[in-house]
Amino acid sequence: MRHPRDRHRMRPIEGYEQVWACQRHSIFAQLVDKETADALERGDAYTMHDGGAGLVVRHGDERQGGIILYYRAA
Ligand SMILES: [Zn+2]
Repeated sequence: MRHPRDRHRMRPIEGYEQVWACQRHSIFAQLVDKETADALERGDAYTMHDGGAGLVVRHGDERQGGIILYYRAA
């Protein structure tokens, strides 16, 4: 990513659980289980929280037994 992580302002998306978005960069993040995260690499297709086509950006921190997955619209 061109955007340093600390510049993102990840805010919860209303109507979804454990999904966040940076409006400025159109980056999304979602808490997924480790098995899901392990099966995905940067650039892989990923179905977004709203069902739209997305692409994996990167993996983030572990949280609540899962992994934060960053993605964007394809
Ligand atoms: Zn951002």
